[in-house]
This record gives sequence, structure tokens and C-alpha cells, in this order.
Amino acid sequence: MTEVIPGIHQLQLPMPEGSLEYINAYLVQGDNGYLLVDTGWNTDETLDSLKKQLAEIGINIKDISQIVLTHIHPDHYGLVGKLKQLSRAEIALHHLEKDLIESRYINTDNLLQQTSQLLHANGVPPAESSELQTASMGMIKFIAPTLPDVTFRGDETISTGIFTFQILWTPGHSPGHICLYEPTKKALLSGDHILPTISPHIGLHPQSSDNPLGDYINSLNTVKQLDVKLILPGHEDPFTELAARVEKLIQHHKQRNSKILALLGAKPKTAYQISAGMTWLSDIDGVSWQNLSSWNKRLAISETMAHLESMRIGGKVDRFFQNGTIYYQRT
Ligand SMILES: [Zn+2]
Ligand SMILES: [Zn+2]
Repeated sequence: MTEVIPGIHQLQLPMPEGSLEYINAYLVQGDNGYLLVDTGWNTDETLDSLKKQLAEIGINIKDISQIVLTHIHPDHYGLVGKLKQLSRAEIALHHLEKDLIESRYINTDNLLQQTSQLLHANGVPPAESSELQTASMGMIKFIAPTLPDVTFRGDETISTGIFTFQILWTPGHSPGHICLYEPTKKALLSGDHILPTISPHIGLHPQSSDNPLGDYINSLNTVKQLDVKLILPGHEDPFTELAARVEKLIQHHKQRNSKILALLGAKPKTAYQISAGMTWLSDIDGVSWQNLSSWNKRLAISETMAHLESMRIGGKVDRFFQNGTIYYQRT
């Protein structure tokens, strides 16, 4: 646990799987209990780690009176149900995230079916489809879902009595993603919207908007205007120079667009064909399609679809349907 600003501690919570080492939760002092931003996964290891870190400043879970979730991905939201039971804290998140909880984590049949249809329509061969469709189901056990007590629209402020945060709706990585901005400290709790070295996943899927990449770029431009001295991200370390980081993320997506346009060439292709022709996970020495896990393949296709749809809306590519399959071509 590190005190990143007097009264604001960063807690690093372990991740059960995947490439990221830990997720950062932030503990904010209040005059009547603490605010916790994000929770980590629902594992014994995460809960133990959280308890241990709270003990370092002499508090326990019951001292948490508010929990705000930047979004409902398992690494940020997973432990919330358990923490609610242990602390009775008030749970708050954006209303668009609330709407996804039931279909994503509780009654998942519909979403699985929609995912399968979307993958099929975008050219995923039947032999690969079922593996990709269910690739996320292993995560369900690491989520203790609960519904929020409070929902945001994105123009609220919340106060701990010591710190006051503006809630900023920053859709893109997730439809109801929020950042928390503390103007007097010039601090931005950025969740997964802006990370110091990783480009957050922006994908089109049954629970995304129609143009998540367009939303993401707009959300980047919104936070770029803020007077920020320190960014406190959901992964990796705190960092500075917000505008430069935003510019870099925008450039990354422009490069991916160019790459996709080049791959489209003269002949129409499906999102699957384009994804299989690209490298992934790093701009520098990316991993080829064959070497990706099923989960990463699914993320890759959904990213390609997000790029294709944003370019379609921007007039750079056209889309047409043939025998139930969606093809894209350059305009
Ligand atoms: Zn996330
Ligand atoms: Zn995350």
C-alpha cells in the first residue's frame, strides 16, 4: 500500500490469471469512513491482500463506507459482493454498467448466444467458434456480483468530507466506464480508460455501443482538457503528462486503422480474416494469431470489429452482407 497523495492510498491487488500483474484499488480517506475505488477479483488471495493492506494503516473492511466501481470488468468489480456483505458500504457505479450485470454475470445464456451469432456473422469458422464463444466463462467464478445502491449518469460529485470527486462518464473501454477527478489535488483516477503503457482493450461485442472506438476517442478528448497533475490508473503505476499519453493512445488507434485498411486491400474481407492477418498484444513485437489464447482471439476480433465499425461510420470502409456473413471493403 502506497500513499500516493496524503489521504489517498493505492492498494495493489493480485490477479488470478492473465497478463497483468495486479489491479490498483484506491482507498480515500473520509471524515466518516473510507471510500474504496474498485475492488479486485473475488478470490481468497485478493481478500487477504486487501485486509493486510488496510491493516497497515490501522483500519479494516468495516471502515469502508462507500465503494465506487469504475466499470464492471471482473478485476475491478469481482469482489464487490463480498465486500458489501462484510462492510455494508454503499455501492455506486454508472447506470449503463448496472444494466449489464445480470446478463453478463447471472443469467448468461442470452449473451452467450448473441456472442456466438456475432462471431459467426463476422466470419469465425465453426471449428473455432464455440471455443471463442465460451472463452470468458472461466472468469465467472471470480465474480461475486451485486447490484449498486446508487447509479451515476456522469455529472455528479461525490464527497468523503475530505475529498470531492467529479464523476466523469468515459465510455469506450466499457459503455458505462467512469473516471473520478479531484480538482483541488488535480488527480484523476482513470480506471482502465487511460493506462501509462498499455492501450486498453476497446472492442465491439453484444454489450458494447455501436461505435465503442468512436466513444473512446471522444472520452479521451474529454479528459485531455482537465487540469491534471497525477493520473492514478487501474493497472501499472501512477503517472503524469496526461495530454501526451492521450495523444499516444489516439496515434495507436490511427495506426491500427491504417494497418486494417492496408490488409483490406482491394478484396472484401471479414473481421475474422483481418484479425488473423494481424499481430496482437504489442505494437512492437506483436503475437501472431495462431499463438493467441482463445480469450485473446476473441478480444482481438472484437477490437478489429470496433476499428472497422468506426471507419465505416467515418466513411472509410463499407460493409455488406453475403449469405449471413458481414464483409468489409474500402470505399
Ligand atoms: Zn477493464
Ligand atoms: Zn482492468
